[in-house]
Amino acid sequence: MNILIMGAPGTGKGTMSQLIKEHYDVVHVSTGDMLRQAVENKTTLGLKVQEYMSAGALVPDEVIHNIILERLAKDDIKKGFLFDGYPRTVKQAIDLDEILGKLNMNIDCIINLDVDVEILKERITGRRTCRNCKEIYHIKNMPPKVEGTCDLCGGELITREDDTLEALMKRLDEYYASTKPVIDYYEKTGLVHNIDGGRDANEVFEDIKAILGGK
Ligand SMILES: [Zn+2]
Repeated sequence: MNILIMGAPGTGKGTMSQLIKEHYDVVHVSTGDMLRQAVENKTTLGLKVQEYMSAGALVPDEVIHNIILERLAKDDIKKGFLFDGYPRTVKQAIDLDEILGKLNMNIDCIINLDVDVEILKERITGRRTCRNCKEIYHIKNMPPKVEGTCDLCGGELITREDDTLEALMKRLDEYYASTKPVIDYYEKTGLVHNIDGGRDANEVFEDIKAILGGK
């Protein structure tokens, strides 16, 4: 089964991807992770990516295209894939269609997590991260035993730069401008399932299982 999972920042894509991957034994393909890995391993590609990142530039579509093409050509992908955070733009969606066509593959299901913006604000701005071990908490949903202190290592809990209201609004603007049109692009395929991601993770995953079926 080949799946795409989409949704604005904070809608729970990461959590759901993890659950889907464990339950359905598909390969989780995250372009962000692949880029980071290439940089860490200092591959030819990684060095190129590093250049763009150091210059504060977006990694160009051709580079992403090649990474995806290489990944999908590997053998393990035959058991099915789950894309998380890609395609991010309509151009990338068209690219992906082209790649899948070349490899004689299809997308079977697109899950779009929809969450009310007020809930997104609460989720993101309430997030606290341990400065030391990076464990993540939430002031309401998953508070530490002692306010401002990590349960695991006693480190100080901080609000990451990405988790401020300003940063969230900027990412949401980008999302609505670039990624929302991707969902419109896929609507015509009849594969898009809109799911209310504003609920408890278990409830959301039950809905996803009902759609994906099987086990
Ligand atoms: Zn800690």
